[in-house]
Amino acid sequence: MAGCVGACDPSGGSTEPTPDVTEQPGDGGKADDANGGAGSSFDPNRLIADAAMLDSSVFSAAEIDAFLADPYEDGQPSCLAKESFGGRSAGDLIRQAATQYQLNPLFLLTHLQKESSLVGQLGTCSQVAMDEAFGCGCPDGSGCAPQFSGFANQIDCAGELTRSYLDDLGAGQSTVSGWSVGKAKSTLDPVSITPANAATAVLYTYTPWVGDKNAGGNAAPFGNYLFWQVWVQYAGTLGYTVSGGGAPPTPPSEPTPPSNPGGALSDWTYILDTDVGLRSDGLGEGYFQAPRGGGRLHNGLDILGSPGEPIYAPCSGEALSGSSGSFGNWVQLVCPVSIAGQEVWASMLYAHLDSREVGFGGFHNVSKDTRVGRLGSTGNAAGTNPHVHYEIIFHASRVDALNEFHSGNDISNNATSDEVLALMQEHCLEPNGLNSVDPTDIIRYGRRFDPYLALTCLGANKAALQSPPASLQSAVVPWSRWYQASTFDVDSEHL
Ligand SMILES: [Zn+2]
Repeated sequence: MAGCVGACDPSGGSTEPTPDVTEQPGDGGKADDANGGAGSSFDPNRLIADAAMLDSSVFSAAEIDAFLADPYEDGQPSCLAKESFGGRSAGDLIRQAATQYQLNPLFLLTHLQKESSLVGQLGTCSQVAMDEAFGCGCPDGSGCAPQFSGFANQIDCAGELTRSYLDDLGAGQSTVSGWSVGKAKSTLDPVSITPANAATAVLYTYTPWVGDKNAGGNAAPFGNYLFWQVWVQYAGTLGYTVSGGGAPPTPPSEPTPPSNPGGALSDWTYILDTDVGLRSDGLGEGYFQAPRGGGRLHNGLDILGSPGEPIYAPCSGEALSGSSGSFGNWVQLVCPVSIAGQEVWASMLYAHLDSREVGFGGFHNVSKDTRVGRLGSTGNAAGTNPHVHYEIIFHASRVDALNEFHSGNDISNNATSDEVLALMQEHCLEPNGLNSVDPTDIIRYGRRFDPYLALTCLGANKAALQSPPASLQSAVVPWSRWYQASTFDVDSEHL
């Protein structure tokens, strides 16, 4: 922006767009698709058109690289133009993510500039800026989890996360942090925003700030106001106009056909890539309700595995991580879940991890099927065969689930657990061809549920049971020890 010489309006005067008070009712019909879908003026309720965010077929890798060679039309290349990522250009990586996640490369470029200013950076890109280019998997101030660090990983992470938000909205749900189309929600500025379309809900999910300098005194623009400004500028430079013409947001993904005989109650995925059974060693056995000291029972599952093996989130939600003497490195994951029409919140604990991969300090959004840590034997699992201790507890509300500490000393019940027990007794055993010794006692211990049955019932399908590595040969308790089925092999065909 030109400097102020002489009389100068500190607000930016007439160059500053004013919010459009005539709100668009939605993305179709009256939508203003000037400025490549961003509208002729800044509307915090409608940042860009859905069709613009989803316009994935525009711009080849070469065209993106040409843009990076002179993004501000001043003859100065972005630092990214000189970088090579394993022999691939930034444009190549952006093009790939755009194709894979069906996003407009202009969206990724704008998002990138908003998060790290790398597009506008001259000279040499800083390694830190590239490692954390989209701030994806990188909680503020604490660096990126290793699997997200690096420019290529960051592009992929940002694309995947954006796509997961779009899929949630396309399925008629709100995003992981509660944004949805047509529903008012406050940003952190705070400003009440009612997203007019999916693209806007996605952008506030990623960055819950308006960041309009007119709303916040003399602060420089940031957040979604900055996104909008950058989009308008780059769309102009690239000569971009929306080619989709107001196409609807991404269609709901087809529900995964349940492979559970009785039909899954949800769409959860399994938490490991492999299955070598449950832990059994001189220090204890890993099945749910196995005997423990002091007359207590084991309140989770100890799923055996190789040290360092990745562990995943079975559902999209919020994750917290920490470390303690007994749990070692642990991750807590909280997800909303519908069980036979009953909306509840699951809190899961993964303990004894070799490493935790959700960031530190508070809860972080986590997408289904992404890695949350690696299997190990930390905490009081030292000396046992490596395993993940996995617990699951249901609560009535998100807040109750976030406040669940999974304390091993607290084996009390709760009302939601009673309701879930009844639902599982009805929907999870016989309809899935399963029998257990005693449904009531096997399914639940206090407010903890048998993760075996909970995961099965909610949709997860594990890999078939296979022999563990030689070092763990003596370690296995097969799943079928506790659940039998007359028509199929519990271990090979079922969780
Ligand atoms: Zn355990």
